Amino acid sequence: MNIPFVDLKSQYDNIKSEIDEAISGVLENTSFVGGPIVENFELSFAKYLEVNHCVACANGTDAIEIALEALQIGEGDEVIVPAYTWVSTASAVNRVGATPVLVDVDPEFYNLDASRIERAITERTKAIIPVHFYGQPADMQGICKLAKYHSLFVVEDASQAHGAEINGKKVGGFGDIATFSFYPGKNLGAYGDGGCIVTNNKSLADDCRVLARLGQKGKHNHLRVGRNSRLDTLQAAVLSVKLKYLDSWTQQRNDNANAYNQALSSLPLALPKCEPNYRHCYHVYAVQTEQRDDLKKFLSDSGISTQIHYPRPLNRLPLYENFGYECPVSDKMAGRLLSLPMYPELTKGQINYVVETITGFYDK
Ligand SMILES: *Cc1c(COP(=O)(O)O)cnc(C)c1O
Repeated sequence: MNIPFVDLKSQYDNIKSEIDEAISGVLENTSFVGGPIVENFELSFAKYLEVNHCVACANGTDAIEIALEALQIGEGDEVIVPAYTWVSTASAVNRVGATPVLVDVDPEFYNLDASRIERAITERTKAIIPVHFYGQPADMQGICKLAKYHSLFVVEDASQAHGAEINGKKVGGFGDIATFSFYPGKNLGAYGDGGCIVTNNKSLADDCRVLARLGQKGKHNHLRVGRNSRLDTLQAAVLSVKLKYLDSWTQQRNDNANAYNQALSSLPLALPKCEPNYRHCYHVYAVQTEQRDDLKKFLSDSGISTQIHYPRPLNRLPLYENFGYECPVSDKMAGRLLSLPMYPELTKGQINYVVETITGFYDK
């Protein structure tokens, strides 16, 4: 049996007629950039998250940069980011001229926690960017409290956490501003690149829109040096169809994670944990083992694709390795975590095969 890491084809097959209709609708009216389809998607995604404003843009990396610019973070400022995340969380900080300060993650949830952040705060610190890593919400209560005490902005990088919740409230609504990616493999993925910024603050939302639309407020009225970062209409049409299914897909991801958890619980693997009041959205289902590389190879030889998110923490990338950050937890996790196949359409048979193969690895 061959099991892919994600299966976008079976997702497409399940909603093919709706997607095809949405795409041909765009082709028929040839409005490829902007227009009501993009506006409607912004409104529906804001409504889904229960936030007031959504500004669509070209990708999740732009979204972070635009959010930081809107907060007027730049030269001389420091922004706290987790050491274990996708590079964009930190490089976006550099792109606006500020300095990312890497803070180690906690060993159980792989997220930033408030106690580790406090030590990294200086007079220059302007913001914290918690990442809801793997789809597990970060400790927003602790982080927002700390941010309030030190007058810092909170920018949620929710690129891996569409639909994740804390006490029934969706992530993206906790910080001053939040960013999402619609990269195809994300839980809500386009058929190309896409992203957005969400916030409850109208003036921040207006600034994001100006910055993402060439500094323009009203036609031919350019107030600032902006960038051209748009979600194209085809992507908005695809995302609008998919958004309707997001909650049921998140439920299926949770069911699949529960099935893995039960079946793998007696093996010498650390399984993902979830706080009781949190709704994980299992963008990634990662197990932890000292024999990670051998297990990865064994699974691959058995037709099972796995990935590593990520093989190097930011403090080990050429980009940041010379800054002397000590992040022992991130270093350790990068050598131990293995992401198993995870997508809503994963079947019981597929899960059983993954489980049997892993069990076989430990029996040999
Ligand atoms: C995917 C991702 C991004 C960037 O998104 P793109 O759309 O690929 O630019 C940023 N942060 C995190 C944590 C991500 O997983």
